[in-house]
Amino acid sequence: MSECSCPDNRWSWVEIDLGALRNNVRAFREQINPRVRMMCVVKADAYGHGAVRCAEVMSRAGAHQFAVATVDEGVELRKAGIAEPILLLSQPPVTSVQTLVDYDIMPSVYRSDFALAFGECAAASGKIGKYHLAIDSGMNRIGVRPEDAVELRRSIDFHRGLECAGTFTHFATADTPDDWDFTLQVKRFTETVKALKAAGLSCGLVHCDNTPGTILHKEMQMDMCRVGVGLYGMQPAPSTAPYIDLEPVMSVMARVTRVSEPEVGEGVGYGMTYRIPHKGTQIATVNIGYADGLARELSNHMEVLVKGTRCRQVGNICMDQFMFCADKPGTALRRGVEVEEGDVVTVIGRDGAEEITMDDMAAARHTINYEVACDFGLRLEKLYV
Ligand SMILES: *Cc1c(COP(=O)(O)O)cnc(C)c1O
Repeated sequence: MSECSCPDNRWSWVEIDLGALRNNVRAFREQINPRVRMMCVVKADAYGHGAVRCAEVMSRAGAHQFAVATVDEGVELRKAGIAEPILLLSQPPVTSVQTLVDYDIMPSVYRSDFALAFGECAAASGKIGKYHLAIDSGMNRIGVRPEDAVELRRSIDFHRGLECAGTFTHFATADTPDDWDFTLQVKRFTETVKALKAAGLSCGLVHCDNTPGTILHKEMQMDMCRVGVGLYGMQPAPSTAPYIDLEPVMSVMARVTRVSEPEVGEGVGYGMTYRIPHKGTQIATVNIGYADGLARELSNHMEVLVKGTRCRQVGNICMDQFMFCADKPGTALRRGVEVEEGDVVTVIGRDGAEEITMDDMAAARHTINYEVACDFGLRLEKLYV
């Protein structure tokens, strides 16, 4: 078996290209007006790429702030020494306020009872609790409704333990050019901010653009952009691709653990959904399964790369393993390839002239690249290169 570019105890891994990540951060810095801050979104373990290692690179490459989805994600960054402001993109349970204060994590706020509990806790610790006001401009996910925003702020602003460090909304259709729903969300958000300021309430940093917004709606960059998926080298939608070049950051790799040459007619895997069609069919096994994020619905509908050659995955994908087939050279019309134990298998990534992208797999799964990346981040060990 050839020398091992894999973790000590596993035959499969994801490779995270930190140089590509750095280049993507810089590519976004060029999209963002120099006066506008960049918040890097590292929720869900940086979309499966590893939050701490990614945040360290982003911090050096020009990130001003970070965003996470859960309190625990924020605590993980603080424990790793990340010093930039951290925004929690939701309003967490009221029982978490002490942790927010202790680790200096800013919650999103849209209810007065939560805000006051947070302010009380901060004041009792001799601190000021910074938060961002979330405004629901039309997505109907989180936030205070525009018509209630001024009243909410008035009901909490007296508290000496609170400071509004930001005011934001999130767009449901930022990737659709010339979209009426987008225009309406913009109007609701800007008018709400105007009303807050007219009422003498300071809004802190005003922000709304996510990755597609940052690229397609530069006029809405305001004080800060919240960039997520693009940093990891994925286009949020086909509409953004003409405007920015991004480098893929995650590859999904493995080594073949076993090769056999079954008799014609033998089956492969649970349910034997594939039968050996002719002599010279090699069946190779790989230690990646649906518990590693390789969706079972891809069974018999995906390919992998071995020695620069596309090979069909066959049989049902198991929890921890899958099989693929390859014709021995000279045994079929297709170009064959000799597969051996230890050969490198590329599930996502490039091998020679061939490439399988997150978008390819997302299309085959009827989902978006975001989900494919998050899934592969769940269990596979990460190798940073
Ligand atoms: C996830 C998220 C983002 C980042 O979105 P991308 O499309 O990955 O850039 C920004 N803001 C909020 C509120 C989010 O939930």
